[in-house]
Amino acid sequence: MDTLSTHYARLLGLDDSWRVDAVDLRLDERRVEIRLVHVGSGVFCPECGQSCGLADHAEERRWRHLDTMQFTTELVARLPRSRCPEHGVKTIVPPWAGKHSRFTLFFEAFAIEVLQAARSVKAAASLLGLSWDAAQTIMDRAVERGLERREVTPIRHIGIDEKSFGRGHDYITVLTDIDGSRVLDVAPERTQAAAEAVLQTLTVEQRQEVVAVAADMLPAYANAVANQTPNAKLVHDKFHVAKHLGEAVDQVRRAENKALQSEDDDRLKGTRQLWLFNNANLSPAQRRRFTAIRQNGLKTARAWAIKEEFRWFWRHVYSTSAEQFFKRWYAWGARCRLRPVIKVAKMLKRHLPNLLSYFLYRITNATSEGFNSVIQALKYAARGFRSFRNYRTRILFFCGKLDLRPRLPCH
Ligand SMILES: [Zn+2]
Repeated sequence: MDTLSTHYARLLGLDDSWRVDAVDLRLDERRVEIRLVHVGSGVFCPECGQSCGLADHAEERRWRHLDTMQFTTELVARLPRSRCPEHGVKTIVPPWAGKHSRFTLFFEAFAIEVLQAARSVKAAASLLGLSWDAAQTIMDRAVERGLERREVTPIRHIGIDEKSFGRGHDYITVLTDIDGSRVLDVAPERTQAAAEAVLQTLTVEQRQEVVAVAADMLPAYANAVANQTPNAKLVHDKFHVAKHLGEAVDQVRRAENKALQSEDDDRLKGTRQLWLFNNANLSPAQRRRFTAIRQNGLKTARAWAIKEEFRWFWRHVYSTSAEQFFKRWYAWGARCRLRPVIKVAKMLKRHLPNLLSYFLYRITNATSEGFNSVIQALKYAARGFRSFRNYRTRILFFCGKLDLRPRLPCH
């Protein structure tokens, strides 16, 4: 048993102040219990780090450790309490676990890897033999650790984007570092206050150093950008423009479909996706149908053509030629007699300077778009959780590029 104790002491990276007192193999319960005893004389105050006297030992506690073969393994110990002249009696943080944690650092590090690989908290929790709450706690701590470690570096190009959250029309505001391809933070709702809140997670210096911000045409976001990032130029990117034009096409289609169906004409029935999807993503059968209805002189086809034409805007090299293109496009869009399309065309004209600024900075919300599938999956995988806080944790856990792992003793 002596060699086994030494083996565990080494594995846990314990110093001289701890001794493995017993390794209890409970074969019937498929459990291993490792009992640790504090044998050091002095301790350090967890508040100020001062070396101070030992007051007593706290109640016995347990920490889940990495399994030994297929056996659940736990550490059991009474933690010493320090008596600091300034802070009084405090329970020390053991070398094998974080403050208040019920898991060892090794277990947390392993759990973080499993959670990241599994992409579903439920699947990971079941693999690890953890409850949903315990898995969430490990993620909370990991994100907290990652945010604490995150360095304050200049971030030149940022994106502010809204994503739907929950079943209804709840939204969150997401701040991304475009060059670093990471989510910096999220806030509930898509208001000016929300946008200002996420921007304020950057330091004052960082905000002053932001050169350009990719965002939608919402006045709330424009105001927040003007207030918080005074030196940044606003860029309305192609993803947002495409979204607005796509919604206009869909409104035209819905109205026209209703009118056609009242005359028993089913041409537009079930065609929503044909108009919204990229042609390349359609099946051969869908493509044949689409080609046929596109050439039918329908209003929807006209709206769609106007939307498609706008894609050429982004391919210009200089803003001067893009502006020329816009004038021609606008002449078409504003006179098409399709109210939803006219509305978007006018909106684009109002925001033209911030559309043209794309040619100076060439930033888009592609980073944020790239996280869409992950964020959607988190939303659906998390049907049971309603709280924004957990949702934020998960987004930062998977999309924040944070240094999440605890530092391990002896490694
Ligand atoms: Zn102290």
